[in-house]
Amino acid sequence: MQTQTSETLRRADPAPVPEWDAIIIGAGLSGLFQLHCLRDRLGMNVRLFEMGTGVGGTWYWNRYPGARFDSESYSYAYSFSQELLDEWDWSEHFAGQPETERYLNHVADKFDLRRSISFASKVTACHYHDDSRSWAVRLEDGSWHTCRFLVTAVGPLSAPTFPKVPGRESFAGEAYHTGLWPKHPVTFEGKRVAVIGTGASGVQVITEIAKTAKSLTVFQRRPNWCKPLHNRPISKNEMKRLRAWYPEMFQLCEQTSAGFLHTPDGRRTFDLPLEEREAFWEKQYRTPGFSMWVGGFKDMMTDRAANDEVSKFVARKIRERVHDPKVADLLIPKDHGFGTRRVPQESGYYEVFNQPNVELVSVLENPIRRITPTGVEFADRDFAFDMIVYATGFDAITGSFDRIDIRGASGAKLKEKWRAALETFLGVQIADFPNMFMCIGPHTALGNIPRSAEYNVLWITNLIEYMRQHGYTYVVPRPEAVEDWTSFVLKAGEGLLSNDVDSWMTGINQNVDGKQTRIIARYSGSAPAFRARANAVATEGYRQLEMC
Ligand code: NAP
Repeated sequence: MQTQTSETLRRADPAPVPEWDAIIIGAGLSGLFQLHCLRDRLGMNVRLFEMGTGVGGTWYWNRYPGARFDSESYSYAYSFSQELLDEWDWSEHFAGQPETERYLNHVADKFDLRRSISFASKVTACHYHDDSRSWAVRLEDGSWHTCRFLVTAVGPLSAPTFPKVPGRESFAGEAYHTGLWPKHPVTFEGKRVAVIGTGASGVQVITEIAKTAKSLTVFQRRPNWCKPLHNRPISKNEMKRLRAWYPEMFQLCEQTSAGFLHTPDGRRTFDLPLEEREAFWEKQYRTPGFSMWVGGFKDMMTDRAANDEVSKFVARKIRERVHDPKVADLLIPKDHGFGTRRVPQESGYYEVFNQPNVELVSVLENPIRRITPTGVEFADRDFAFDMIVYATGFDAITGSFDRIDIRGASGAKLKEKWRAALETFLGVQIADFPNMFMCIGPHTALGNIPRSAEYNVLWITNLIEYMRQHGYTYVVPRPEAVEDWTSFVLKAGEGLLSNDVDSWMTGINQNVDGKQTRIIARYSGSAPAFRARANAVATEGYRQLEMC
């Protein structure tokens, strides 16, 4: 490969710089598959850098008690290898984190991926160099590597954030973030535990901690609408049936809007009389998984009056399940309707608040003032704890990019570019950042992540293969293609109630400076429409990309 001549690189490290055809950042679900495709299908010389000491990404870091799939396990699995599908049995319809981590380790072993992965290797900078058409990648230890192609597989939810309150370091007890959960066992027995945050992670961890903690105090800012998961084991026979269903199941996932097994009902809410609507929602409330969220009436996410109806139904369920009406009322969202933020799936979450060892404290009007050596301080009350669990989420979608000093052709910093305007081409490439590809970047289809990730990875792989076949060493999207894609993404988000609500999905994180304004960070159109456009780009010869 090329010799690196950049000033940055020469100054930074006079030692020989390893040169790779491609560098991948992140050994999560998309990074692992990307490694397999580039190394084993295209025969490239690839290195993957992973911050953790094992594979799994989300399923490596989020090892908190209660962490489990919200998608049906089998629909979340890789579909690219028949052998893998044949040999892996899922034990539950919604597998827990340990099983998923085992699965991803099995994949890494099966495809001999570890020999191309550097673990405990945090990437701190990626600088593009025009003279050599290559990227220089710096690790935390100060070493540099270069590559022709840079693939980020850093995950949309992988930069954990903590409450922006003073004193966190002063706390003398145990403290954990759900997204940075330690590998050593953590016990709650006999302890006074606090959980801050009630998103999907909080809901899962709270339900587990409540089982054994001496006392559990849940600090809730804004409640979410949660729905029962209805998990259950998969018997040997059922697994056999599921395996036989795989081809049809993956086809179904390909057809649905978000890659899940559930499809929206074609009717509008008010097409049905009240009793029929209620019967429909009753059935959905009892159906496992995301049925009620992504399989609702088709106007649920766009018509406020329709959304109010389903929200009223779920509010009633919460009131039925929580004994104390004041507590039930606190648990019912008032600022957004059902489904307009990510719907956490729960397994007994609401019943937790009927337990004598659990207290729910709203911090909406009365925010946490500081963390003290002994606990949490408010304007009017102090709490003492043995443990604080931060289930306070992530600097989502762009956050994991922001944490790396990524500079493009003109030296422009990606973080600053995206602060000014979040623009991409297919969520895969960025103007002025040649030879860089994003797996599950902003503006790409999310939904059932593996379904989108596999597509993303194959699209990138095909593009790189095309370039190699044509002897191209440079690719960047044309400005008009970026403009076109970005306006398509903005248009796809028009009229969606979810884009009028603060959440990680709209780029809001009160704990991160500069992330208080809503943006269209996600592509919220359908996955089939996404793939149709992306397929057309490839079949029409990548005219939207400048290659040479
Ligand atoms: P999240 O949804 O962003 O929730 C963070 C929680 O922390 C919110 O309740 C937030 O309150 C609260 N919070 C943040 N700062 C606070 C502060 N200073 N004081 C009080 N409360 C504060 O994060 P998450 O629960 O980790 O979930 C993120 C996403 O990860 C999910 O939506 C989902 O997509 C994914 N996830 C998936 C699974 C699964 O598939 N099984 C499980 C977990 C997570 P506000 O709402 O008021 O901001």
